[in-house]
Amino acid sequence: MVFRIGPKSEVLFGEGASEQIGEKTKLLGCTRVLCVYDQGVKDAGIVGPVIEGLKKAGLEIIQFGGVLPDPPDTMINQCGELARNGRVDGIVGIGGGSTLDTAKAVNVLLGNPGPIENYYIQPGASPHKPGKPLVLVPTTAGTASEITYVAVLTRTATGAKQGVLGPATIASLAIVDPLLTLGLPPAITATTGMDTFAHALEAYTAAGRNMMSDVLSEKAIALTVQYLPKAVGNGSDVEARTNMSFACLIAGMAFTDAKTHFGHAFGHSLGARHHVPHGTGCAIAQPGVIAVVAEHLPEKVRRVGELMGLLLGNDLSPAELGRKVSERIAAFNREIGVPTLKQLRITESDLAPLAEGLMKDICFSFMPVKLGREEVLKVIEGLYAA
Ligand code: NAD
Repeated sequence: MVFRIGPKSEVLFGEGASEQIGEKTKLLGCTRVLCVYDQGVKDAGIVGPVIEGLKKAGLEIIQFGGVLPDPPDTMINQCGELARNGRVDGIVGIGGGSTLDTAKAVNVLLGNPGPIENYYIQPGASPHKPGKPLVLVPTTAGTASEITYVAVLTRTATGAKQGVLGPATIASLAIVDPLLTLGLPPAITATTGMDTFAHALEAYTAAGRNMMSDVLSEKAIALTVQYLPKAVGNGSDVEARTNMSFACLIAGMAFTDAKTHFGHAFGHSLGARHHVPHGTGCAIAQPGVIAVVAEHLPEKVRRVGELMGLLLGNDLSPAELGRKVSERIAAFNREIGVPTLKQLRITESDLAPLAEGLMKDICFSFMPVKLGREEVLKVIEGLYAA
Protein backbone atom coordinates (compact mmCIF):
# COMPACT_ATOMS: atom_id res chain seq x y z
CA MET A 1 0.00 0.00 0.00
CA VAL A 2 1.29 3.45 -0.89
CA PHE A 3 0.40 6.29 1.46
CA ARG A 4 1.36 9.88 2.22
CA ILE A 5 2.76 10.98 5.58
CA GLY A 6 2.49 14.36 7.27
CA PRO A 7 0.24 17.41 7.26
CA LYS A 8 0.72 20.07 4.60
CA SER A 9 0.53 22.86 7.17
CA GLU A 10 3.36 23.91 9.45
CA VAL A 11 2.28 23.46 13.08
CA LEU A 12 3.45 25.42 16.10
CA PHE A 13 2.28 23.50 19.18
CA GLY A 14 2.53 24.22 22.89
CA GLU A 15 1.41 26.21 25.89
CA GLY A 16 1.81 29.91 25.04
CA ALA A 17 2.43 29.28 21.31
CA SER A 18 -0.19 31.90 20.35
CA GLU A 19 2.06 34.63 21.79
CA GLN A 20 4.20 34.21 18.67
CA ILE A 21 1.36 34.97 16.26
CA GLY A 22 2.55 38.48 15.34
CA GLU A 23 6.08 37.58 14.27
CA LYS A 24 4.97 34.32 12.60
CA THR A 25 2.23 36.03 10.56
CA LYS A 26 4.62 38.79 9.52
CA LEU A 27 7.15 36.17 8.38
CA LEU A 28 4.47 34.91 5.98
CA GLY A 29 4.61 38.33 4.30
CA CYS A 30 1.33 39.69 5.68
CA THR A 31 0.79 43.40 6.34
CA ARG A 32 -3.01 43.66 6.62
CA VAL A 33 -5.03 40.67 7.79
CA LEU A 34 -8.67 39.74 8.28
CA CYS A 35 -9.25 38.28 11.76
CA VAL A 36 -12.22 35.91 11.83
CA TYR A 37 -13.89 34.79 15.08
CA ASP A 38 -17.27 34.34 16.79
CA GLN A 39 -18.92 36.07 19.72
CA GLY A 40 -18.31 33.17 22.15
CA VAL A 41 -14.55 33.20 21.60
CA LYS A 42 -14.49 37.00 21.91
CA ASP A 43 -16.49 36.83 25.16
CA ALA A 44 -14.03 34.22 26.47
CA GLY A 45 -11.30 36.91 26.24
CA ILE A 46 -9.25 35.04 23.64
CA VAL A 47 -9.51 37.34 20.63
CA GLY A 48 -8.16 40.51 22.30
CA PRO A 49 -4.66 39.21 23.15
CA VAL A 50 -4.27 37.53 19.74
CA ILE A 51 -5.17 40.74 17.92
CA GLU A 52 -2.84 42.69 20.23
CA GLY A 53 -0.03 40.29 19.27
CA LEU A 54 -0.68 40.94 15.59
CA LYS A 55 -0.80 44.71 16.09
CA LYS A 56 2.44 44.69 18.07
CA ALA A 57 4.12 43.12 15.05
CA GLY A 58 2.90 46.10 12.98
CA LEU A 59 0.05 44.37 11.18
CA GLU A 60 -3.15 46.20 10.23
CA ILE A 61 -6.34 44.40 11.23
CA ILE A 62 -9.83 44.07 9.77
CA GLN A 63 -12.27 42.07 11.90
CA PHE A 64 -15.21 39.80 11.21
CA GLY A 65 -16.68 38.66 14.53
CA GLY A 66 -19.97 37.24 13.28
CA VAL A 67 -19.12 33.59 12.54
CA LEU A 68 -22.19 31.35 12.89
CA PRO A 69 -22.10 27.66 13.88
CA ASP A 70 -22.20 25.20 10.96
CA PRO A 71 -21.10 28.15 8.78
CA PRO A 72 -23.69 28.91 6.09
CA ASP A 73 -22.40 29.65 2.59
CA THR A 74 -24.34 32.93 2.56
CA MET A 75 -22.24 34.16 5.50
CA ILE A 76 -19.03 33.06 3.75
CA ASN A 77 -19.95 35.16 0.71
CA GLN A 78 -20.56 38.24 2.93
CA CYS A 79 -17.28 37.75 4.74
CA GLY A 80 -15.48 37.21 1.42
CA GLU A 81 -16.79 40.58 0.26
CA LEU A 82 -15.41 42.21 3.41
CA ALA A 83 -12.00 40.58 2.86
CA ARG A 84 -11.83 41.60 -0.81
CA ASN A 85 -13.00 45.18 -0.22
CA GLY A 86 -10.56 45.45 2.69
CA ARG A 87 -7.71 44.35 0.38
CA VAL A 88 -6.25 42.07 3.02
CA ASP A 89 -3.15 40.02 2.26
CA GLY A 90 -3.74 37.33 4.87
CA ILE A 91 -6.40 35.68 7.04
CA VAL A 92 -6.24 34.70 10.71
CA GLY A 93 -8.97 32.43 12.11
CA ILE A 94 -9.29 32.29 15.91
CA GLY A 95 -11.85 29.83 17.24
CA GLY A 96 -13.43 26.41 16.93
CA GLY A 97 -14.05 24.46 13.75
CA SER A 98 -16.85 26.81 12.60
CA THR A 99 -14.47 29.77 12.64
CA LEU A 100 -11.50 27.95 11.12
CA ASP A 101 -13.69 26.60 8.31
CA THR A 102 -15.02 30.13 7.72
CA ALA A 103 -11.46 31.47 7.46
CA LYS A 104 -10.56 28.70 5.01
CA ALA A 105 -13.60 29.27 2.79
CA VAL A 106 -13.08 33.05 2.77
CA ASN A 107 -9.51 32.40 1.67
CA VAL A 108 -10.92 30.57 -1.38
CA LEU A 109 -12.81 33.77 -2.24
CA LEU A 110 -9.62 35.84 -1.88
CA GLY A 111 -7.95 33.96 -4.69
CA ASN A 112 -10.99 33.11 -6.84
CA PRO A 113 -14.27 34.63 -8.03
CA GLY A 114 -17.33 33.93 -5.87
CA PRO A 115 -19.72 32.66 -4.82
CA ILE A 116 -18.34 29.90 -2.60
CA GLU A 117 -21.04 27.49 -3.84
CA ASN A 118 -18.97 27.09 -7.05
CA TYR A 119 -16.32 25.22 -5.11
CA TYR A 120 -18.33 22.60 -3.22
CA ILE A 121 -16.98 19.07 -3.60
CA GLN A 122 -19.29 17.71 -6.30
CA PRO A 123 -19.05 16.52 -9.89
CA GLY A 124 -18.13 19.46 -12.12
CA ALA A 125 -16.91 21.67 -9.24
CA SER A 126 -14.54 24.47 -10.21
CA PRO A 127 -10.96 23.85 -9.10
CA HIS A 128 -9.62 26.78 -7.11
CA LYS A 129 -6.28 28.59 -6.97
CA PRO A 130 -4.39 29.30 -3.72
CA GLY A 131 -5.57 32.29 -1.69
CA LYS A 132 -3.42 34.31 0.73
CA PRO A 133 -1.39 33.16 3.75
CA LEU A 134 -3.82 31.54 6.21
CA VAL A 135 -3.08 31.28 9.94
CA LEU A 136 -5.44 29.11 12.02
CA VAL A 137 -5.57 29.23 15.81
CA PRO A 138 -7.91 26.60 17.29
CA THR A 139 -9.64 27.33 20.61
CA THR A 140 -11.40 23.96 20.87
CA ALA A 141 -9.73 20.53 20.87
CA GLY A 142 -11.94 18.55 18.55
CA THR A 143 -12.13 19.20 14.84
CA ALA A 144 -8.43 19.52 13.87
CA SER A 145 -9.66 21.84 11.11
CA GLU A 146 -6.38 23.75 11.53
CA ILE A 147 -4.50 20.98 9.71
CA THR A 148 -7.15 19.36 7.54
CA TYR A 149 -7.65 20.30 3.90
CA VAL A 150 -11.40 20.75 3.97
CA ALA A 151 -13.78 23.54 5.02
CA VAL A 152 -17.15 22.12 6.12
CA LEU A 153 -20.00 24.54 5.37
CA THR A 154 -23.79 24.47 5.35
CA ARG A 155 -25.23 24.61 1.87
CA THR A 156 -28.16 26.91 2.56
CA ALA A 157 -30.07 25.77 -0.53
CA THR A 158 -30.44 22.25 0.89
CA GLY A 159 -29.50 22.56 4.57
CA ALA A 160 -26.87 19.81 4.12
CA LYS A 161 -23.27 20.02 5.27
CA GLN A 162 -20.87 20.17 2.35
CA GLY A 163 -17.12 20.54 1.95
CA VAL A 164 -14.80 22.80 -0.03
CA LEU A 165 -11.37 21.38 -0.66
CA GLY A 166 -8.22 22.67 -2.36
CA PRO A 167 -5.06 24.74 -1.96
CA ALA A 168 -6.77 27.76 -0.32
CA THR A 169 -8.25 25.61 2.45
CA ILE A 170 -4.82 24.46 3.66
CA ALA A 171 -3.41 26.60 6.48
CA SER A 172 0.02 28.13 5.96
CA LEU A 173 0.49 27.88 9.71
CA ALA A 174 -1.52 26.27 12.52
CA ILE A 175 -0.82 27.65 15.99
CA VAL A 176 -2.11 25.15 18.56
CA ASP A 177 -1.95 26.70 22.03
CA PRO A 178 -3.70 24.45 24.60
CA LEU A 179 -3.97 27.40 27.00
CA LEU A 180 -6.61 28.88 24.68
CA THR A 181 -8.90 25.94 25.51
CA LEU A 182 -8.80 26.43 29.31
CA GLY A 183 -12.05 28.42 29.36
CA LEU A 184 -14.08 25.95 27.29
CA PRO A 185 -17.23 25.06 29.26
CA PRO A 186 -17.62 21.34 30.17
CA ALA A 187 -20.36 20.68 27.59
CA ILE A 188 -18.29 22.07 24.69
CA THR A 189 -15.17 20.31 26.01
CA ALA A 190 -17.17 17.07 25.94
CA THR A 191 -18.67 17.40 22.47
CA THR A 192 -15.45 18.64 20.84
CA GLY A 193 -13.35 15.99 22.64
CA MET A 194 -15.71 13.29 21.40
CA ASP A 195 -15.17 14.60 17.87
CA THR A 196 -11.47 13.83 18.35
CA PHE A 197 -12.37 10.37 19.69
CA ALA A 198 -14.61 9.71 16.68
CA HIS A 199 -11.85 10.86 14.28
CA ALA A 200 -9.42 8.42 15.86
CA LEU A 201 -11.86 5.48 16.04
CA GLU A 202 -13.03 5.93 12.46
CA ALA A 203 -9.58 6.58 10.96
CA TYR A 204 -8.48 3.36 12.69
CA THR A 205 -11.08 1.32 10.83
CA ALA A 206 -11.70 3.38 7.65
CA ALA A 207 -11.19 1.99 4.17
CA GLY A 208 -8.19 4.32 3.72
CA ARG A 209 -6.35 3.38 6.95
CA ASN A 210 -2.59 2.84 6.75
CA MET A 211 0.36 2.08 9.04
CA MET A 212 0.87 5.72 9.96
CA SER A 213 -2.80 6.55 10.55
CA ASP A 214 -2.99 3.44 12.77
CA VAL A 215 -0.13 4.70 14.97
CA LEU A 216 -1.68 8.16 15.25
CA SER A 217 -5.18 6.79 15.90
CA GLU A 218 -4.07 4.42 18.64
CA LYS A 219 -2.27 7.21 20.49
CA ALA A 220 -5.22 9.58 20.07
CA ILE A 221 -7.65 6.96 21.41
CA ALA A 222 -5.45 6.29 24.45
CA LEU A 223 -4.95 10.01 25.20
CA THR A 224 -8.66 10.77 24.84
CA VAL A 225 -9.68 7.96 27.17
CA GLN A 226 -7.13 9.15 29.76
CA TYR A 227 -7.53 12.92 29.52
CA LEU A 228 -10.99 13.83 28.21
CA PRO A 229 -12.76 12.95 31.48
CA LYS A 230 -10.20 15.11 33.32
CA ALA A 231 -10.63 18.05 30.94
CA VAL A 232 -14.43 17.84 31.27
CA GLY A 233 -14.20 17.53 35.07
CA ASN A 234 -11.68 20.34 35.57
CA GLY A 235 -11.27 22.75 32.68
CA SER A 236 -8.22 24.37 34.28
CA ASP A 237 -6.20 21.14 34.20
CA VAL A 238 -3.40 22.24 31.86
CA GLU A 239 -1.98 18.73 31.49
CA ALA A 240 -5.38 17.39 30.42
CA ARG A 241 -5.95 20.31 28.04
CA THR A 242 -2.50 19.93 26.47
CA ASN A 243 -2.98 16.21 25.94
CA MET A 244 -6.42 16.75 24.42
CA SER A 245 -5.06 19.41 22.04
CA PHE A 246 -2.34 16.96 21.03
CA ALA A 247 -4.83 14.08 20.67
CA CYS A 248 -6.96 16.32 18.45
CA LEU A 249 -4.00 17.21 16.27
CA ILE A 250 -2.80 13.65 15.70
CA ALA A 251 -6.33 12.29 15.21
CA GLY A 252 -6.70 15.01 12.56
CA MET A 253 -3.52 13.83 10.86
CA ALA A 254 -4.81 10.26 10.98
CA PHE A 255 -8.19 10.96 9.43
CA THR A 256 -6.84 13.37 6.82
CA ASP A 257 -5.24 10.40 5.12
CA ALA A 258 -7.43 7.49 6.29
CA LYS A 259 -10.78 9.39 6.29
CA THR A 260 -13.75 9.03 8.66
CA HIS A 261 -16.90 7.04 7.92
CA PHE A 262 -20.31 6.08 9.34
CA GLY A 263 -20.18 8.11 12.58
CA HIS A 264 -19.26 11.31 10.80
CA ALA A 265 -21.88 10.75 8.13
CA PHE A 266 -24.40 10.24 10.96
CA GLY A 267 -23.10 13.36 12.80
CA HIS A 268 -23.50 15.44 9.63
CA SER A 269 -27.01 14.11 8.99
CA LEU A 270 -28.10 14.70 12.62
CA GLY A 271 -26.46 18.15 12.70
CA ALA A 272 -28.08 19.28 9.45
CA ARG A 273 -31.60 18.12 10.45
CA HIS A 274 -31.66 18.66 14.22
CA HIS A 275 -28.76 21.06 14.94
CA VAL A 276 -27.06 18.60 17.26
CA PRO A 277 -23.40 19.60 17.88
CA HIS A 278 -21.10 17.77 15.49
CA GLY A 279 -19.04 15.86 18.09
CA THR A 280 -22.16 14.76 19.96
CA GLY A 281 -23.71 13.26 16.83
CA CYS A 282 -20.48 11.46 15.93
CA ALA A 283 -20.13 10.12 19.50
CA ILE A 284 -23.69 8.78 19.64
CA ALA A 285 -22.99 6.65 16.58
CA GLN A 286 -19.74 5.04 17.77
CA PRO A 287 -21.16 2.10 19.81
CA GLY A 288 -23.24 1.00 16.81
CA VAL A 289 -20.43 1.53 14.30
CA ILE A 290 -17.86 -0.49 16.25
CA ALA A 291 -20.29 -3.42 16.53
CA VAL A 292 -20.73 -3.49 12.74
CA VAL A 293 -17.02 -3.07 12.06
CA ALA A 294 -16.13 -5.91 14.48
CA GLU A 295 -17.53 -8.49 12.06
CA HIS A 296 -14.97 -7.41 9.45
CA LEU A 297 -12.02 -6.08 11.45
CA PRO A 298 -12.14 -7.99 14.75
CA GLU A 299 -8.45 -7.45 15.59
CA LYS A 300 -8.76 -3.68 15.19
CA VAL A 301 -11.82 -3.66 17.43
CA ARG A 302 -10.01 -5.84 20.00
CA ARG A 303 -7.17 -3.27 20.08
CA VAL A 304 -9.67 -0.42 20.61
CA GLY A 305 -11.08 -2.37 23.56
CA GLU A 306 -7.60 -2.89 25.01
CA LEU A 307 -6.77 0.81 24.61
CA MET A 308 -9.96 1.53 26.55
CA GLY A 309 -8.85 -0.76 29.38
CA LEU A 310 -10.74 -3.98 28.55
CA LEU A 311 -9.23 -7.42 29.11
CA LEU A 312 -10.53 -9.47 26.17
CA GLY A 313 -10.16 -13.25 26.02
CA ASN A 314 -8.70 -14.88 22.91
CA ASP A 315 -11.78 -17.07 22.46
CA LEU A 316 -14.22 -14.23 21.78
CA SER A 317 -16.07 -14.28 18.47
CA PRO A 318 -16.11 -11.08 16.35
CA ALA A 319 -19.72 -10.48 17.45
CA GLU A 320 -18.81 -10.85 21.13
CA LEU A 321 -15.81 -8.56 20.70
CA GLY A 322 -18.06 -6.02 18.99
CA ARG A 323 -20.62 -6.20 21.82
CA LYS A 324 -18.04 -5.76 24.59
CA VAL A 325 -16.20 -2.86 22.92
CA SER A 326 -19.51 -1.27 21.95
CA GLU A 327 -20.63 -1.40 25.62
CA ARG A 328 -17.31 0.12 26.71
CA ILE A 329 -17.69 3.01 24.25
CA ALA A 330 -21.31 3.53 25.36
CA ALA A 331 -20.10 3.70 28.99
CA PHE A 332 -17.43 6.24 27.98
CA ASN A 333 -20.12 8.32 26.25
CA ARG A 334 -22.16 8.30 29.49
CA GLU A 335 -19.08 9.23 31.55
CA ILE A 336 -18.42 12.23 29.27
CA GLY A 337 -22.10 13.22 29.33
CA VAL A 338 -23.02 12.50 25.70
CA PRO A 339 -26.84 12.57 25.48
CA THR A 340 -28.90 9.78 23.88
CA LEU A 341 -31.02 10.30 20.77
CA LYS A 342 -34.17 10.19 22.93
CA GLN A 343 -32.74 12.85 25.26
CA LEU A 344 -32.19 14.98 22.15
CA ARG A 345 -35.94 14.54 21.41
CA ILE A 346 -35.30 12.62 18.22
CA THR A 347 -38.38 10.54 17.42
CA GLU A 348 -38.77 7.21 15.64
CA SER A 349 -40.10 8.98 12.55
CA ASP A 350 -36.82 10.92 12.31
CA LEU A 351 -34.75 7.75 11.87
CA ALA A 352 -35.44 6.98 8.19
CA PRO A 353 -34.63 10.54 7.01
CA LEU A 354 -31.47 10.42 9.14
CA ALA A 355 -30.43 7.21 7.40
CA GLU A 356 -31.06 8.73 3.98
CA GLY A 357 -28.98 11.82 4.81
CA LEU A 358 -26.22 9.61 6.19
CA MET A 359 -26.03 7.47 3.06
CA LYS A 360 -25.70 10.56 0.84
CA ASP A 361 -22.81 11.91 2.91
CA ILE A 362 -19.36 11.46 1.35
CA CYS A 363 -17.92 10.02 4.61
CA PHE A 364 -20.24 7.01 4.31
CA SER A 365 -18.28 5.88 1.25
CA PHE A 366 -15.21 5.31 3.43
CA MET A 367 -16.84 2.58 5.56
CA PRO A 368 -14.63 -0.52 5.54
CA VAL A 369 -17.73 -2.57 4.70
CA LYS A 370 -20.56 -1.71 2.34
CA LEU A 371 -23.98 -1.44 4.01
CA GLY A 372 -27.40 -1.21 2.37
CA ARG A 373 -30.29 1.00 3.49
CA GLU A 374 -31.88 -1.64 5.72
CA GLU A 375 -28.57 -2.34 7.48
CA VAL A 376 -27.93 1.37 8.04
CA LEU A 377 -31.43 1.83 9.43
CA LYS A 378 -30.92 -1.17 11.73
CA VAL A 379 -27.76 0.42 13.19
CA ILE A 380 -29.60 3.71 13.74
CA GLU A 381 -32.56 1.93 15.34
CA GLY A 382 -30.10 0.19 17.66
CA LEU A 383 -28.64 3.57 18.67
CA TYR A 384 -32.16 4.86 19.27
CA ALA A 385 -33.06 1.90 21.49
CA ALA A 386 -29.92 2.34 23.63
P1 NAD B 1 -17.64 25.68 17.09
O1 NAD B 1 -16.49 26.28 16.35
O2 NAD B 1 -18.98 25.74 16.44
O3 NAD B 1 -17.70 26.33 18.54
C1 NAD B 1 -18.67 25.90 19.48
C2 NAD B 1 -18.86 26.97 20.54
O4 NAD B 1 -17.71 27.01 21.37
C3 NAD B 1 -19.05 28.38 20.00
O5 NAD B 1 -20.12 28.98 20.68
C4 NAD B 1 -17.75 29.08 20.36
O6 NAD B 1 -17.93 30.45 20.61
C5 NAD B 1 -17.35 28.36 21.63
N1 NAD B 1 -15.93 28.35 21.94
C6 NAD B 1 -14.91 27.96 21.12
N2 NAD B 1 -13.75 28.02 21.76
C7 NAD B 1 -14.00 28.49 23.01
C8 NAD B 1 -13.18 28.72 24.16
N3 NAD B 1 -11.88 28.47 24.16
N4 NAD B 1 -13.79 29.16 25.28
C9 NAD B 1 -15.14 29.36 25.32
N5 NAD B 1 -15.96 29.13 24.27
C10 NAD B 1 -15.40 28.69 23.12
O7 NAD B 1 -17.36 24.14 17.48
P2 NAD B 1 -16.35 23.04 16.94
O8 NAD B 1 -16.85 21.75 17.46
O9 NAD B 1 -14.95 23.39 17.23
O10 NAD B 1 -16.52 23.08 15.35
C11 NAD B 1 -17.64 22.44 14.74
C12 NAD B 1 -17.59 22.66 13.25
O11 NAD B 1 -16.37 22.12 12.71
C13 NAD B 1 -18.73 21.96 12.52
O12 NAD B 1 -19.27 22.83 11.53
C14 NAD B 1 -18.05 20.75 11.87
O13 NAD B 1 -18.72 20.31 10.71
C15 NAD B 1 -16.69 21.32 11.56
N6 NAD B 1 -15.62 20.32 11.38
C16 NAD B 1 -14.66 20.61 10.47
C17 NAD B 1 -13.62 19.74 10.25
C18 NAD B 1 -12.59 20.06 9.24
O14 NAD B 1 -11.67 19.24 8.99
N7 NAD B 1 -12.64 21.21 8.59
C19 NAD B 1 -13.52 18.55 11.01
C20 NAD B 1 -14.50 18.28 11.95
C21 NAD B 1 -15.55 19.19 12.13
